[in-house]
Amino acid sequence: MIFLFLSIALTAMGQIDQRREIYIPEIPGYKTLKCDFHTHTVFSDGTVWPTVRVDEAWLDGLDVIAITDHVEYTPHQEIILNRNSSWEIARERAHQMGIILIRGAEISRKYPFGHFNCLFTSDNELLNRKDSMEAMTEALRQGAVFQWNHPGWQRPREIPVWEKEQTEVYSKKMMHLIEIVNETSYYPLAHQWAIEKNLGITANTDIHGPVYMNYGQKVHRPMTLVFAREKSEEAVKEALLAGRTAVYHMDTLMGKEEFLKPLFQQSLKIRTPVITIKGKQWIDVVLENVSDIPLMLSFKGGSDEYAEIGKGVYVPAHGSARLTVKGKQENYSGKRTYAIPCVVDNYYVAPRKGMNAVIEYTVIFEKK
Ligand code: ZN
Repeated sequence: MIFLFLSIALTAMGQIDQRREIYIPEIPGYKTLKCDFHTHTVFSDGTVWPTVRVDEAWLDGLDVIAITDHVEYTPHQEIILNRNSSWEIARERAHQMGIILIRGAEISRKYPFGHFNCLFTSDNELLNRKDSMEAMTEALRQGAVFQWNHPGWQRPREIPVWEKEQTEVYSKKMMHLIEIVNETSYYPLAHQWAIEKNLGITANTDIHGPVYMNYGQKVHRPMTLVFAREKSEEAVKEALLAGRTAVYHMDTLMGKEEFLKPLFQQSLKIRTPVITIKGKQWIDVVLENVSDIPLMLSFKGGSDEYAEIGKGVYVPAHGSARLTVKGKQENYSGKRTYAIPCVVDNYYVAPRKGMNAVIEYTVIFEKK
């Protein structure tokens, strides 16, 4: 009774108890983990305590976060213990809440070198070197996975530039990932480089203040999807090194077709795979989307001498939409199976390029 009263009182005080689960299907052989590989705390120039990052991640439905405080920029000198403190302070909370917490650090240099996150480090203190490449080499020695952060940041019109410094880092295997989405910025050119240079793509918040100051309850934070063999730190590292990632930003999913296609197939269910049309009737094929990501479908053709369909359909997250099929002949009877080519406009397999897919259904035509 006391407990009941307490919980009601806490709810009345506005405490948030519910984790917002994000439903994105799993693909064959892998778990789909939701991750943020770029966050800050008071141990660099952020404004929140490390455990808050874990609580926010739990509320936001994430599975994995990395705390990646700047190595060289630590303005809150009054509280600095050392460069491993943020991870050390947050790890017990992460363990309690079932969040995988990756130790990391951000090597932050002026352009042209730029900023690199080193993930899975073992001692961030050793990364504090004057020379950028020495710091990177130490991270490599620790077995780090490297991410080139926000490649378009502080560049004119946010268009990234690949300099000789990036060529050096890339050739020395110090670039495994590239952040194609940082906070609200999407860098199409970085996306293109990821395809050409076989880099894993990521989307992260680079959050400095409280997450709810930026995203609130209605907008999801940008996140990296990792296709891991299991939910463990080792499996996340293996998946990152193998480039098994995708990006979920606003209403858009981006990644290689080999990952997006099975996600699409498991998200879209044709609820009326067989319809009957009498004469020139209009009958609906009902499409249901069981995932959190809406599906924007544009049809390329699909009409023939027997039936006609519209140009596209928007299937909302956890909702259904109808694709109306209109009979064209009064006196035809027969059974035809359709495989309608379409483009999933908000699944990018390359910069702003939708993914090709097929919608299948059968029509039984009857005379009027
Ligand atoms: Zn950062």
